[in-house]
Amino acid sequence: MSDSQPDSNDVREIRINPIVPSESVLVATARSMRPKKAEELAPRDTRKHVETCPFCRGNEHKTPPVILSWPPEGDWQIRMVENLYPVLGDDREQAGFNFGLQQTIDGYGRHEVIIDHYEHGIAVHEMAESHLAALFGVYQTRMRQLFESDERLKYVLIFKNFGPAAGASIPHTHSQVIAMPVVPENVDAEVRNSAAHYAKHHHCIFCALIDEALTFEATIYDRNSGAVRRKINVGQYVVERGEKFIAIKPFASRYEWEVHILPLAHQADFLDVRGEDMADLARVMKRTMARLDAVIGGAQYNFFLHSVPHDSQQTAHAPSYHWHLEICPRTSIPTGFELGSGLFVNTINPEQAAERLRAVEL
Ligand SMILES: [Zn+2]
Ligand SMILES: [Zn+2]
Ligand SMILES: [Zn+2]
Repeated sequence: MSDSQPDSNDVREIRINPIVPSESVLVATARSMRPKKAEELAPRDTRKHVETCPFCRGNEHKTPPVILSWPPEGDWQIRMVENLYPVLGDDREQAGFNFGLQQTIDGYGRHEVIIDHYEHGIAVHEMAESHLAALFGVYQTRMRQLFESDERLKYVLIFKNFGPAAGASIPHTHSQVIAMPVVPENVDAEVRNSAAHYAKHHHCIFCALIDEALTFEATIYDRNSGAVRRKINVGQYVVERGEKFIAIKPFASRYEWEVHILPLAHQADFLDVRGEDMADLARVMKRTMARLDAVIGGAQYNFFLHSVPHDSQQTAHAPSYHWHLEICPRTSIPTGFELGSGLFVNTINPEQAAERLRAVEL
């Protein structure tokens, strides 16, 4: 990180695609000042401490001011700071401007960084379960604080990029928090579609998928001959099961090694996870990440939390939406076909991927 400050001509706004309004683009020019990779980064930096790293202990003066740290007393293990190169910020509040077909929403919001662990290159599956439980607790605390601080904030996105293939520009393990005035389109689509399912079937589609994953076995017969065409044992999608949480390989996985973690009991809002249940979430997460790391051999990934938006429809959507964590390991680069069609190409059969993940001995 350098000392350069964003310049006042920087653009920071969400631009709505006039042809497909659901496709929006966040234009954030200050981001281009982020440290660029001088040389090809090693896929995984496993060092414990790096003298020059702004996120390592002893270099606290190199980061913007601290927002919170854990534990609150003594040496910090988890530390949260403002992002020096925010994609959204509250420093230049202005109304969105619209002219003709070109519409924008001002990029108002917050962008913060959570230094997940004091150890520079530690991977999630190497962290102690108690540490991971504390990290999920920090996610929850900050999400709550942000929603309570400003009613214009409709969504708080918590995500992690790990490894250069996943877009991480600083190798020290960290997560990010972006609080925004709009609900991201993909979350909105999940919320709308699960509400439509609920209206028709009177149950949460995520709960139904979990039930199927745990119990359902289906046989598909050939319509003409009556012969068995395919037997689907849906239980084969379960990667890891805890007491309160489950890790599932989605039937229609976009990424080869994509895995989702969900609470077993219905819960729309990540803010409602009870403190005593964080340990089970941490355990399922740690074991899932260990499986991914073993199969891929040093996973580079993004993960993100999807929770019910805090907009005017929050209460209405509580019965139909179910929060979850999506883990998307990056093993290939999207091609022209994927960008051009919006259709993800997955080269590994999800049933086989789940089987391989389950087979890892922990
Ligand atoms: Zn570091
Ligand atoms: Zn549910
Ligand atoms: Zn989702």
